[in-house]
Amino acid sequence: PQPGLLGIADIRRLADALGVRPTKTLGQNFVHDAGTVRRIVTAADVGPGDVVLEIGPGLGSLTLALVEAGAEVVAVEIDPALAAALPGTVAERMPEAAGRLHVLHADALSLTGPDMLPGGAPPPDKLVANLPYNVAVPVLLTALEHLPSVREALVMVQAEVADRIAAPPGTRTYGVPSAKTAWYAEAARAGTIGRSVFWPVPNVDSALVRLTRRGPPDTAAPREAVFAVVDAAFAQRRKTLRAALAGWAGSAARAEETIRAAGLDPTLRGERLAITEFAAIAEQGRHSAG
Ligand code: SAM
Repeated sequence: PQPGLLGIADIRRLADALGVRPTKTLGQNFVHDAGTVRRIVTAADVGPGDVVLEIGPGLGSLTLALVEAGAEVVAVEIDPALAAALPGTVAERMPEAAGRLHVLHADALSLTGPDMLPGGAPPPDKLVANLPYNVAVPVLLTALEHLPSVREALVMVQAEVADRIAAPPGTRTYGVPSAKTAWYAEAARAGTIGRSVFWPVPNVDSALVRLTRRGPPDTAAPREAVFAVVDAAFAQRRKTLRAALAGWAGSAARAEETIRAAGLDPTLRGERLAITEFAAIAEQGRHSAG
C-alpha cells in the first residue's frame, strides 16, 4: 500500500494499471504535484465539516488532498474506469478517509438536481475541481444552476478561460461566460498554475477562479430569458446592441425600443453591459412580447 498524495510515478502506474490513455476530448490532464493540490485545498479553505463536490476527479490527485484536509467528497467522473478505481485509490492511500468519499459515474453536464448525487451523500457546500477544459464553462454553470447548496467554488481552468469567467463588463475578455457566471456568483482569479504540474503536459497554463454565490439579480425575467439576451448580444460582438438584438426582438426598431425602455443606450455594444442590465432588457422584452 502507498500512503499519501500522488506523485508522477503514482500517476503513471495508476494510469497504466487501469489501461487509461489520457484523452484530449475528456480534457484528461492529471496533476502530479502535491504542492499544487494542497495549495488548491488551502485556497478553497476546505476543512473538516465541508462537503465538497469534485467534478472530474480523474486518478484522484485532488480528491486525496480534499479528504486529507478532512472534507467529505462527492466526486462526479465521466470515465468509467476512473470512476471505478477512485474508491480503491483512496482506501489504499488514506484508509481512514475512505468512508468520506462518494463517487458518481456520470456526465457532470447531466446533473439536473441534488437528487442525482449518490444516495447517502450530504448536499455539497463547496465545489473544488480541476475542470475538464473543453466543457469547463458549461459544467460550472450547470453546477451553479442545479446545486444551490454550493455556496463557494474554487476551480482550475485554462488561464484564458479563467480570464473570461472573471472579466468585468467593458473589458476585452468580457463575454458570455462572464455575464452568465455573474448571474450566480462573484468571480475572481486566484492565481496561476503552470502546465508542468500535469501529466500529460497541456499546451497552456491554468489558473484558479474563486466564485462566491450571491442571489440572482433582482428581476422579474426568468433566467432563460436573460441568457437568451446575453447569447444574442454576444453572437455578433462587434455590433451595437440595437443590431445584435434585432433578431431576438423581431426587428431593429423593436430592439431599440426595448433597450431604451430598459434605460440603456441602443448604440452601446453588449460587452459594456452588466448582467443586471441584460436582465432589464429581458424584462422589457417580456412586456413588449406580452
Ligand atoms: N482532478 C484530476 C486532477 O486534478 O488530476 C483530473 C482533472 S482532468 C483536467 C479532468 C477530469 O474530468 C478527467 O478525469 C475527465 O475524465 C473528467 N471529465 C471530463 N468530462 C467530464 C464530464 N462531462 N463530467 C464529469 N467528468 C468529466
